[in-house]
Amino acid sequence: MTGAGSRLLASRLAGPLTDPEQIRHRQDTIAFFASDTMQREDIRGLLKSAPDMSRALSRLAVDRGGPRDLQSIAFAMKSAREIAGLLASGGAYPQEVGFAVQKLEQAPHALGEKLGIAIAEEPPLLKRDGGFVAPGYNPDLDELKALRDQSRKVIAQMQADLAEELGIRSLKIKHNNVLGWFMEAPTAQCDPMKDDPARFIHRQTMAGAMRFTTTELADLESKIASAGERALAIELEIFNELTKAVVAAGGLIKAAAEALAILDVSTSLAVLAEAENYSRPTVDGSLAFTIEGGRHPVVEQALRKSGEPFVANNANLGPQESYENGQIWLITGPNMAGKSTFLRQNALIAVLAQMGSFVPATNAHIGVVDRLFSRVGAADDLARGRSTFMVEMVETAAILNQATDRSLVILDEIGRGTATFDGLSIAWAAIEHLHETNRSRSLFATHYHEITALSQRLERLNNATVRVKEWKGDVVFLHEIVEGAADRSYGIQVAKLAGLPKTVVSRAQKILKQLEEQDTNKPSEKLLDDLPLFASFSQPLETIPEPEEEESFVSNELVELLDSFDPDDMTPRQAQEALYALKQKHKELSAS
Ligand code: ATP
Repeated sequence: MTGAGSRLLASRLAGPLTDPEQIRHRQDTIAFFASDTMQREDIRGLLKSAPDMSRALSRLAVDRGGPRDLQSIAFAMKSAREIAGLLASGGAYPQEVGFAVQKLEQAPHALGEKLGIAIAEEPPLLKRDGGFVAPGYNPDLDELKALRDQSRKVIAQMQADLAEELGIRSLKIKHNNVLGWFMEAPTAQCDPMKDDPARFIHRQTMAGAMRFTTTELADLESKIASAGERALAIELEIFNELTKAVVAAGGLIKAAAEALAILDVSTSLAVLAEAENYSRPTVDGSLAFTIEGGRHPVVEQALRKSGEPFVANNANLGPQESYENGQIWLITGPNMAGKSTFLRQNALIAVLAQMGSFVPATNAHIGVVDRLFSRVGAADDLARGRSTFMVEMVETAAILNQATDRSLVILDEIGRGTATFDGLSIAWAAIEHLHETNRSRSLFATHYHEITALSQRLERLNNATVRVKEWKGDVVFLHEIVEGAADRSYGIQVAKLAGLPKTVVSRAQKILKQLEEQDTNKPSEKLLDDLPLFASFSQPLETIPEPEEEESFVSNELVELLDSFDPDDMTPRQAQEALYALKQKHKELSAS
């Protein structure tokens, strides 16, 4: 509803919490507003008309504010007062609402009211020309303004009288910053004035007009000017005094603005939860990640517009009885089946849950995620010297080097931007690393169906696929995630749907048939057993040999040397020397 609310929403989305208790407090607020729709709608109605108090405050604090900022604070304060009134009459509140009510009550309401009385209904943007103080606020100012306005009326009268007296209908009395007030008439009709230089003092000759003044007009002018100047000085003084008071109460105003933003975000999330059928997730310190009936918050709404239903899916990446760490789901399935959507919806559910929102799922239990890593889509960064594949690898490297057993990782295809075997090998090794070293809860989508064989060896790796049906040679997407592995990607069918020329599609089908006939010796089984990559990795996974006596002696000496270094006390040069010393020691020990 408000600018401050949308900023808070953005910052909560960008900085999800990791403390379950804090998350629960936010959820309590949403639950409170989800159950009390009357109060919620009243609050939202008031929020809608509340101006951006904190923006106005910051402008005033750095002396860049204008009369409208003072008015914004007056209006927002009024909303704050009314909202506090609404809530105060309620009763027991969740912690966050209680905090908000307190801040709204503590706001400097007397100042707000004063601003409301002081500032005119439609103040100008800038204070420079005055005209922003409401009538009735300052009697001296009102008097001066009356005098000034009165003089203006006198000028109008003077213009009418002179025009009549001199018979110059088009005579005008005008004002500019150079000449001040003057009378102007077309040159052709100026004779009566030119003929009476004692009364009409010539000021300027224009292309088609002449300008004059009279002592009478000059007197009036100085009266107007001094009244105007004095009025402006008073207005500016009032502005400064009010601004000073606002800035002095800045802390309280800011707190009230924050309270309004919290109420805005919470009531909005409550509306969303109700309208979109979101549920309150259980968030705790476990490693669970169980989503029942999860949906993608954005794709779901987009599909609804075209009248299509979104297929809800479950996910379970938490530990099972036989193992303590989270699982990796390896998702294979046809193009366009919904793999990316599934990956992203689970990541979004985690973000939403940890920002304290309800989530698009019928049930969700999430053990707090310390960091969320994602590698999705293909993008290059040519200006920084990175090709598409390089960007993909840099992102993958960041994940494999940093993700922990508390992290959530979504990897939407890796190794697609290089030769098939390079890509397959990288994807394969990355999964092994995720499983053995990072141990993060992960979703990994791939078209390398060979990798599904890995689930036989890695106990926490589970295969999932997206169901499709084949109908008269075409593929029908069911978007349903089920256990199991896909054996084909239906890429050619999807290419046909996309409008590839018929000749290309039929030629591709022929080539595919030939390739498949040549490749009959089950590559995945072969890879599982033969790949040197896997052979070298699988050994330490299964049987870690006990170190022999002598080996442990070798490492002990190295460890002693290592222990003698204190990295905090070393210069880079010394650190480098220490490394050489370690290498040298190792060499000596290996030789002996
Ligand atoms: P590719 O392998 O080609 O990248 P993909 O399997 O990752 O495809 P998505 O990009 O996730 O497929 O989904 C393709 C389209 O399918 C989406 O744009 C969406 O319209 C639709 N879709 C995906 N998931 C669902 C779902 N659960 N329910 C309904 N429609 C869905």
